[in-house]
Amino acid sequence: MSTSQSAKPKIIWLNTLVFTITFLVAAIGVPWYGLTHGFSFGLWLALIGTIGFAGISITAGYHRLWAHRTYDAHWSLRVLFALGGALAVQNSALHWSSDHREHHKHVDDNDKDPYSAKRGFWYSHIGWMLREYQASRYHDYNNVKDLQKDGVVMWQHRHYLTLTLLTTIGWPVAIGLMLGDVWGAVILVGFARLVINHHTTFFINSLAHIWGKQTYTDRNTARDNGFLAFLTFGEGYHNYHHIFSADYRNGIRWWQFDPTKWLIRGCSWLGLTRNLKRTHGYQVEKAKLEMQFKKLTAKAPISCETTMQKLHDEYDALLLRLREYYQARKQLLDSKTKALAEHMPTLEEMHEKVAELRNAFLQHKRQFKMLLQQPQIN
Ligand SMILES: [Zn+2]
Ligand SMILES: [Zn+2]
Repeated sequence: MSTSQSAKPKIIWLNTLVFTITFLVAAIGVPWYGLTHGFSFGLWLALIGTIGFAGISITAGYHRLWAHRTYDAHWSLRVLFALGGALAVQNSALHWSSDHREHHKHVDDNDKDPYSAKRGFWYSHIGWMLREYQASRYHDYNNVKDLQKDGVVMWQHRHYLTLTLLTTIGWPVAIGLMLGDVWGAVILVGFARLVINHHTTFFINSLAHIWGKQTYTDRNTARDNGFLAFLTFGEGYHNYHHIFSADYRNGIRWWQFDPTKWLIRGCSWLGLTRNLKRTHGYQVEKAKLEMQFKKLTAKAPISCETTMQKLHDEYDALLLRLREYYQARKQLLDSKTKALAEHMPTLEEMHEKVAELRNAFLQHKRQFKMLLQQPQIN
């Protein structure tokens, strides 16, 4: 498909109407109904709960389970994600995953990335769904053959329209009947909820490729952004995600907001999820150091060749320390497993060695940063 602006593909009227009507009803209906009738506390709670259910079905289900296969899930959980995904109105999991795998494979390629951020905010946010930009790709869903073996995925794909109508209309009406305010529920839990779910998810394709830090790589436009993580159930750590997309986590630090990760891990304690994949800490630290080195050397205009050589040598030495530290850590973990069976007495020593190597690495890292900031390298 060409990016030529002269012959724009046909408008997809169904999508355009759905986005426009839901937006208008939410923007006008919520303040009008709020002022004339008011929304009960129960309805606000239902709004938050439904946003959470549909949103996390996309992040934990569509994204991390199906598009990236970062873990395995029990069928009951997959059925819940399939229903929540239909409620989120973002096409079937099969279709969504196919698009998303293309996005990762061809990220920022204006012709092949379905929502390339290089085509601007509007296009990557919503514009790509308003015209037939990608129609030629959908014949056999070649890049999601593995998902075609998942009974839940195929059931949802075949009955997507029915499931979407049942959940998006049935759920708000049911809530309205329970709380005695059907119209209020339809406006708030039906329309406004859908608009919020839509645009917060769309931010991952638009804002998370524009606004934030490139912590681990600058080979694509993806950014890490804690604020966006808050709006997107943890998906805002998008720079990490693009370089380590096989990891079930996006926010890897304990303080980073990633409820999708917490849910997946929590479910593993209940036996509902298995084989949670994580990137090795060494790889993560190495990518981060590489980026820091790149940014700092780019910032300091280094003219002296000897200084440059020294910096590179120091960087290599730092990476060596990092490797030593992670190797020792791995040895310790292996020995721990063994020790459980054999009661090995050397664990104490190994703990000390790991702590020593960790400190040595951290000290070296500090020295290296100071070296980069010294005036003589300017
Ligand atoms: Zn992804
Ligand atoms: Zn992306």
